[in-house]
Amino acid sequence: MPDKPHYRTVIEPFIIKSVQPIRLTTREQRERVLREARYNLFRVRSQDVLIDLLTDSGTGAMSSEQWAALMRGDEAYAGSQSFQRFEAVVKKHFGFRHVIPTHQGRAAERILFSVVCKPGDVVPNNTHFDTTRANIEFQQAVAEDLVIEEGKDPTSRHPFKGNLDTEKLKALIQRVGAEKIPLCMLTITNNSGGGQPVSMANIREVKAVLEPHGIPLYFDAARFAENAYFIKLREPEFRDWSVPDIVRKMMSYADGCTVSAKKDGLVNIGGFLCTNDDLLAQQEKDLLILTEGFPTYGGLAGRDLDALAVGLEEVMEEDYLKYRLAETRYLGDHLTEIGYPIVQPPGGHAIYIDAKSLLPHIPPSHYPGQSLSIEFYLEGGIRTVEIGSVMFGKPSPDGTGEIPAAMELVRLALPRRTHTQSHIDYVLEVARVVYENRERLRGVRITRQPPFLRHFTAEFELM
Ligand SMILES: *Cc1c(COP(=O)(O)O)cnc(C)c1O
Repeated sequence: MPDKPHYRTVIEPFIIKSVQPIRLTTREQRERVLREARYNLFRVRSQDVLIDLLTDSGTGAMSSEQWAALMRGDEAYAGSQSFQRFEAVVKKHFGFRHVIPTHQGRAAERILFSVVCKPGDVVPNNTHFDTTRANIEFQQAVAEDLVIEEGKDPTSRHPFKGNLDTEKLKALIQRVGAEKIPLCMLTITNNSGGGQPVSMANIREVKAVLEPHGIPLYFDAARFAENAYFIKLREPEFRDWSVPDIVRKMMSYADGCTVSAKKDGLVNIGGFLCTNDDLLAQQEKDLLILTEGFPTYGGLAGRDLDALAVGLEEVMEEDYLKYRLAETRYLGDHLTEIGYPIVQPPGGHAIYIDAKSLLPHIPPSHYPGQSLSIEFYLEGGIRTVEIGSVMFGKPSPDGTGEIPAAMELVRLALPRRTHTQSHIDYVLEVARVVYENRERLRGVRITRQPPFLRHFTAEFELM
């Protein structure tokens, strides 16, 4: 007998030790909840949600080893052992000289861009995550998205749709001048582009374009382990490499990174910032003290750093990553089988339904994504999130209407180690009914909205 039989079933590589009940509501209750929330799912209380696929950020389950690590937390204000353990793990796997903890990813971004950006600077990326873009624009710099064309086509099955277009990068450097580009980022995986990975070949090419100009390369590395596993699966050169070796290789091309640990850190809160530049690190630590805390805790408790140190290693275990990507693929493939148009191929952390193609009878001005998201909740208590014109629509210059977003998507994000396959099967059963009723869905109207980030608090009515 071979010691690794090839059974097809990819199991959850853990057992459940602690549980949180979820509550099935009646349709009548959900109708009332929606009315009271003004049809905005951000305004729904979590106890009224059965399966919460709003985000994979900070919503995952910690392991028993992580809970044990919490007890080891050393809460010394300065020089705590928790920091030493956390720093050692990051240095071992990422290889940067300086590791600066922050309370979450955007705090790392805020500190980095405050230090490196001047007004008028330009920061390229495959696709900027919204907090990254906002932190760059807050410094009066310009955030440029240079993802390859395939990355913007939901139907393209390119294996690395997160790749950055190096021709566009060269043209940008030519146009604005290298001195205007304080650094170039690569978001791994490309969250705003559907959780799509970046290949090692692309990382190398981007570095080769930047190096002669002395422009540093940074990773926005929230999902570094998922990206590394995609490289192992899809880039033949790395087929026999271990995930930690691939991570180390990826990081070897970078001069620094920002990380939201709420994703592949497998913790509920945390983040960090890395650099190889001593002077920059000093400036960053000075700012850190002003806004986050002393450099050995950076806005976190010692116990948070210990849980993160364990999470960063657990997330690179291949059984975990195999299950993680299989779960996402399972959801994506079965939605496709039902008939849903989704962003192909399934990414690492979420499935994105193309609501514009699914609901062609609802124009973008009536928010097909919001309508679909409402229906998933109404039908089965499932919370998803609209990523379309509610989130990214802009007032038209003449003030009479709106410029719609490029795509009308609904994201089903999968919290890490949180749901079992039967939860996903339930989601699929609900999705089938929603699909069958799709022609009956109507659009929505916004009745009240704040001046910015309106998706969090806007109020809607059904049409
Ligand atoms: C979540 C995320 C961030 C921001 O991190 P927070 O921890 O939410 O502040 C930045 N970049 C990417 C790619 C992310 O997914």
